[in-house]
Amino acid sequence: MHRDLLFNSCHLAYLFNYHLARGGQLPYSSDRCRLLYRLKHIRTADSWLRGIFADAVRHTFNCGQNYATCNAAKEVLQRHALELFRRNWHECMLDEWRKDPKSTNIFEIYYDQDNVSKTLFAEWLAVLEDWLKSFTANSLFDKLWQLDSLKWRPLDTPASFDIDGIRVWINPLLAWRDHDYGAIMIFSHSQCGDLSQIEVSLASMLLSQKTYLDIEKQEIMLYMPGNDDIFVRHPVRQELKQCKMMIRESSGNMREFEHNIVRGMAVSGQRTTACESCRFIELCRGNDFFHNGLQ
Ligand code: SF4
Repeated sequence: MHRDLLFNSCHLAYLFNYHLARGGQLPYSSDRCRLLYRLKHIRTADSWLRGIFADAVRHTFNCGQNYATCNAAKEVLQRHALELFRRNWHECMLDEWRKDPKSTNIFEIYYDQDNVSKTLFAEWLAVLEDWLKSFTANSLFDKLWQLDSLKWRPLDTPASFDIDGIRVWINPLLAWRDHDYGAIMIFSHSQCGDLSQIEVSLASMLLSQKTYLDIEKQEIMLYMPGNDDIFVRHPVRQELKQCKMMIRESSGNMREFEHNIVRGMAVSGQRTTACESCRFIELCRGNDFFHNGLQ
């Protein structure tokens, strides 16, 4: 999904992210390739906090522990999330990304010309604490705590599977099977539980692989950190078919684009509102390939 979104938002960003950054972790790569690799791994504060939250939720429920009390599970979740937050923040303040581009590099700090973002520690910590508070107060938390450890379906994150030979990646939170019913939890992107039908369909396909249950017995739970509501969607067969068609089409467009690059077609940036939040803006600013193209 991310690949498709990036491709449709800016071909140049797609090229940077999926092709030109490749190998940028290797000592003999070019300076530009190393820079692209570093930029590729920058995350916005929101995405970083969601990552911490997701990691803590998976750590708490998905690794086979049984907790004596619900409060014990809540403590594990909170402790793990706050430890991760502090560790990541420390890495970021020490600019560890200069040595290891995969270590925490936050967009708002990296591109902060006024140097004010370093004061945001307390603000971002409060956001995370608020998310943890709201999640642990939700009735779903008790339900998850009561599930027997054997009911969890281990997930790689990101998880991947094939559709007609095309590898698809998604990043679910948790999956479980309880008797004749299976559920998978994924992040929602809005307070109203909006999510594209494609993401619901992909989550359903992954859940089918993990639980062997028909879609009639599946629930896709959409959760937005900080929001008390958890939205439940039921997959629809017709939408699953449309999702597969869309993936084939999108993959075909990307392959054609990549083929054209190999044949020397120039790619230029498309100045849009996406530039403001694009992690590659450092490369685009003041460069003529923004207008004239890059080969
Ligand atoms: S800064 Fe704008 S033009 Fe450049 S890669 Fe990003 S989105 Fe594309």
